[in-house]
Amino acid sequence: MRTGKVFLVGAGPGDPGLLTLRGRDVLACADLVLYDGLANPLLLRLTDCPCERTARTQVGGGRIVLQQEINERLIREARSGKTVVRLKGGDPYVFGRGSEEVAALEAADIPFEVIPGITAATAAGEYAGFSFTHRDIASAVAFVTGHEDPSRDAPRLDYAALASFPGTLVFYMGLGRVQDICTRLIGEGKPEDTSAAVVCQASLPQQQVVTSTLAELPAAVAASDLRPPSLIVVGECVDLRRACSWFEQGPLFGQRIGITRPNHQSDDIAGRIVTLSGQPVMMPLIEIRAIDEEQAATANEVLARLDNYQWLIFTSVNGVVAFFDRLWQTGRDVRRIGHLQIAVIGSATAVALAARGLRAEIVPDLFRAEALAKSLSPHVDGQRVLWARASRGRDVLPLALTAAGATVDEVVVYRNDDVEQFDADIVDLIRSDALDWVGLSSPSIARQFAKLLTVHQISPQLLRTRIGTISPVTSDAAKAAGLSVAVEATTYTWDGIIDAIVGSTTIR
Ligand code: SAH
Repeated sequence: MRTGKVFLVGAGPGDPGLLTLRGRDVLACADLVLYDGLANPLLLRLTDCPCERTARTQVGGGRIVLQQEINERLIREARSGKTVVRLKGGDPYVFGRGSEEVAALEAADIPFEVIPGITAATAAGEYAGFSFTHRDIASAVAFVTGHEDPSRDAPRLDYAALASFPGTLVFYMGLGRVQDICTRLIGEGKPEDTSAAVVCQASLPQQQVVTSTLAELPAAVAASDLRPPSLIVVGECVDLRRACSWFEQGPLFGQRIGITRPNHQSDDIAGRIVTLSGQPVMMPLIEIRAIDEEQAATANEVLARLDNYQWLIFTSVNGVVAFFDRLWQTGRDVRRIGHLQIAVIGSATAVALAARGLRAEIVPDLFRAEALAKSLSPHVDGQRVLWARASRGRDVLPLALTAAGATVDEVVVYRNDDVEQFDADIVDLIRSDALDWVGLSSPSIARQFAKLLTVHQISPQLLRTRIGTISPVTSDAAKAAGLSVAVEATTYTWDGIIDAIVGSTTIR
């Protein structure tokens, strides 16, 4: 058995976009990820392997034992041949015990690599709007722990040296001791009116910044409802902060937005929400699954007689993907449909076809079956039409096209099943009014959302989460299910839903 390898990877401060490219590459080829409580779980989407969170709670004998357990686990898993990623918030070596893990790996002769990350302090500066080393203000910056190992006999921090340090001080892990830190710095001669700040959840949509003076900071902190993790910054650089940083001006700053589409399709939209300073919350309400054996046998038969048809219809991206996957897996390729005219619903569906080098003859402006039926009807009299569809959906299309003289065959190429449960933490978010928005991208998703609210005894009338829908058809379905719709997309895509949400939050 060949020994595997351990990668210590800095996860960055919170914003998932701040992971290094090297970190992304090793996540993609990991067999196991052990991540700490500060690493943003959105990063786990970059791997398909099992991911486990290493608890930092004091249970079971305290942190030192836990750290040892982690070290032993890393060694054991690597010895069994695995590529293990140890994902640590910020930078692995900045107050992160990364060096202890590396020492254990070295002692056990396990190959390893350490990939730096953006440490919380540097991100806090940029995202809160101050430069620690602005050349007119400070020629040094010190990263200091505000939480010394209580097991040590004598504290090692020299507050006299810190008070006279010629630059910016940044305290990690210090919020619980903010009073003590400020008092000791002042006691050692640091002026009471030195500017100071606390930055909480730096680079995350819930980022909070409190600015004050060294003397007043503890009271200012006590008066604010701050959530960890947080840093204390002491120095004139704090004055560089404007009322609102570039990051806090992002149109979705502070907003949690539920993405209800299947998980494997939410990456792009999650990324866009993050770049707008918002927080994507994955809460898929339907799952796309492969068809069963019987349906597959039927689909394969249809693919064997594509010559019989003149038109091919796709009404979703999933339909396009599943159809062409099956075509390929059954030993065929796109040349088999060269003779067919193509009609689609939805610009995203047309884009999925374009990615395969195919142009749709008909893409109606309106994202609904009625519109496609209207555009297509004049062309299909006496023709054979094949519709590559989901396991469920509306019957508008075959009825209308048959009425227009076509012979319509339907081939089910994928299943879309309801997700029967909200995750417990999603229920908590909704119940505590902490989910600001939810996007609904089809009538069945709208109905499923309403159904799950009922299952969890959450009244749609009392729901604080605002609803954005993808189209009028979906809005109608949502309203029929008792939901009220706050915004509706004008282009019928997920990007359109986000545009509509952004539009409404900027007006507010
Ligand atoms: N290795 C990490 C630090 C681990 S120590 C790094 O390089 O950032 C944990 C401390 O880091 C927290 O107590 C807090 O002081 C700080 N911290 C981590 N993430 C933070 C964030 N997003 N905002 C503010 N402080 C953060």
